Amino acid sequence: MKQINRREFIKLGVTASSLLALGGSSDLVTKVFGKRETSKKVLILGLDGMDPHLLQIWMKEGKLPYFQRLWSQGNFRPLRTSIPPQSPVAWSNFITGTNPGGHAIFDFIHRDPERYFPVFSASETTEAKKTVRIGNLVFPLSGGEVKLLRKGRAFWQILEDHDIPATIFKIPANYPPASSKQRTISGMGTPDILGTYGIFNYYTTEATELKEDIGGGRIHEVYVIANRVEAKLSGPRNTFKKDRPESAIEFKVFIDPVNQVAKISIQDHEFILKEGEWSSWKRIHFNMIPTQSVSGICMFYLKQIRPNFKLYVSPVNIDPGRAALPISTPKRYSEDIEERFGPFFTKGLPADTKALDNDVLDDGEFLEQDNFVLRERLEMFDYELARFSSGLLFYYVSSTDQRQHMFWRLIDKEHPSYDQGLAKKYGNTIENIYKDMDKMLAKAMEKADKDTVIIVMSDHGFSPFRRSFNLNTWLKENGYHSLIKEWKQGQEDLFLNTDWSRTKAYSFGLNSLYINQKGREAEGIVKPGAEKEALVREIAYKLENFQDPKTGGNPVLRAFVAKDVYQGPYVEEAPDIIVGYNYGYRSSWATPLGRIPKEIVEDNTAKWSGDHCMAPEVIPGILLTNRKIKVKSPALYDLTPTFLQIFGIEKPTEMIGKPIF
Ligand SMILES: [Zn+2]
Repeated sequence: MKQINRREFIKLGVTASSLLALGGSSDLVTKVFGKRETSKKVLILGLDGMDPHLLQIWMKEGKLPYFQRLWSQGNFRPLRTSIPPQSPVAWSNFITGTNPGGHAIFDFIHRDPERYFPVFSASETTEAKKTVRIGNLVFPLSGGEVKLLRKGRAFWQILEDHDIPATIFKIPANYPPASSKQRTISGMGTPDILGTYGIFNYYTTEATELKEDIGGGRIHEVYVIANRVEAKLSGPRNTFKKDRPESAIEFKVFIDPVNQVAKISIQDHEFILKEGEWSSWKRIHFNMIPTQSVSGICMFYLKQIRPNFKLYVSPVNIDPGRAALPISTPKRYSEDIEERFGPFFTKGLPADTKALDNDVLDDGEFLEQDNFVLRERLEMFDYELARFSSGLLFYYVSSTDQRQHMFWRLIDKEHPSYDQGLAKKYGNTIENIYKDMDKMLAKAMEKADKDTVIIVMSDHGFSPFRRSFNLNTWLKENGYHSLIKEWKQGQEDLFLNTDWSRTKAYSFGLNSLYINQKGREAEGIVKPGAEKEALVREIAYKLENFQDPKTGGNPVLRAFVAKDVYQGPYVEEAPDIIVGYNYGYRSSWATPLGRIPKEIVEDNTAKWSGDHCMAPEVIPGILLTNRKIKVKSPALYDLTPTFLQIFGIEKPTEMIGKPIF
């Protein structure tokens, strides 16, 4: 088996360089859909990760007056989330009105059983099949393809069948956007220009302990010579050249010998930054061959000039004005927004949590960046709200989720990463984003007339993530997973030290457990049928009864057997067990990568300190609306038929939910 490092793995999933060079597929539909005027309106705010417990506390304290007012006009309920409650899975439930058996997104990461290799679940890229070589250059004759792997129909496609207009702003799990004449723009799952989920660049003279190539970023050692720094910014691979070298742009930084400022010169841009200052978006072009270039946008942050030079460059986002990959329907939609607002974040999750987790950005710097994201999102909301007159508007916010992930450690004194000093300074970060959402809701409520149904919802809530569970280590300790070399335990990723001939089970992804099944896995040993069935039940039972030696708590609250909880045509593709963690526990960072550390449970000392990949009952989402809810315990997949019902459309048979009103 070929040795593959983490960076290559991360890049493999969504690398799309051949497409980048050719531009997105042609999109002839430029007129926005929806001729039938309906006076009915559905306005949905999708606030990722908003938690019912926190919401209720701050509503009661009078800190969220508009949430409270909406509650008194209609209803507030916890919203049942998906199994597992990962955002791509949960939003797919919402989009299709089914569960993973109906939309085939089971985890952020799936696996290829032929190779025991992780693959991203959301999209797949294939490169041009036919090429022609002329000397050192390679020309694609056919376009490559980027494919959305979510199955099932999206609710806005069904609305379109009935001529009801919809605008879907950055809903997750919709990259590339499902084919539609409606206005849609992709969100979570949209890659950066490298085809990855985001790689920042950090240039520093400081001897750093960080490796050159950390997950999500690259560290470059640079030198200041005669007050000048010369460096390179990497771009997509140049598929026009035979050995497919990485494209790159050289740039220079001129440091003022006296003042704390520097001038950055890159392509046709020259700009001055003070220490601690962010640049605006800079549009740059990676040149492939004389007639082809790829356009991207990035921001520079001059973190320090002296004693050490430190410059952060954000992941290069797809340029929304000249999108090299499909990010909206119609294609014109992202260009229209770009014309009005200028360049904007297109990368799926825009805030750089990796840079914060690796101490490249500190808390304040990360918040500054996420404030750019938030401000942009709120400005565009005003625009979409102002022109919303008929049909459905879905509007998504990511900052709620991202800030809870990164700042939970400062509201949870029991968290291993709790820091009293930082808590004083940033302990209200989560509360503040809830207040920002209250102001956003205020605008929605002011605009709503009697025909407008307002729905404020989240895909899941939040829990502390204090202890990490090494699921593969647990499998090994319990005799279900065997290593080739015991002494090498914990050193290899991607199960390179696993003896498959003596392994019955393994875990990839954040909640997924697979049986090493004969005829399905390349070196499967467990017979499907009764033998497998018994093994699945045995592992599920033992997992639920395992106790954390440090706390005495049960890390696993529920181990779900896939075929007990999923319905639909894709159940066969599901993992065999979906592990539902308890409050405070989550899968370790090693598990999705197929690494097997020595300890079963460890403290989570990362800044990524809040999470939601638990059992669904631990972290329900929220549902607030200005109508009375008639269902006792509504679920994400109940909302989909609800919208259809409002517009008088019959529920398709594949949808498993019930309208809530
Ligand atoms: Zn999240």
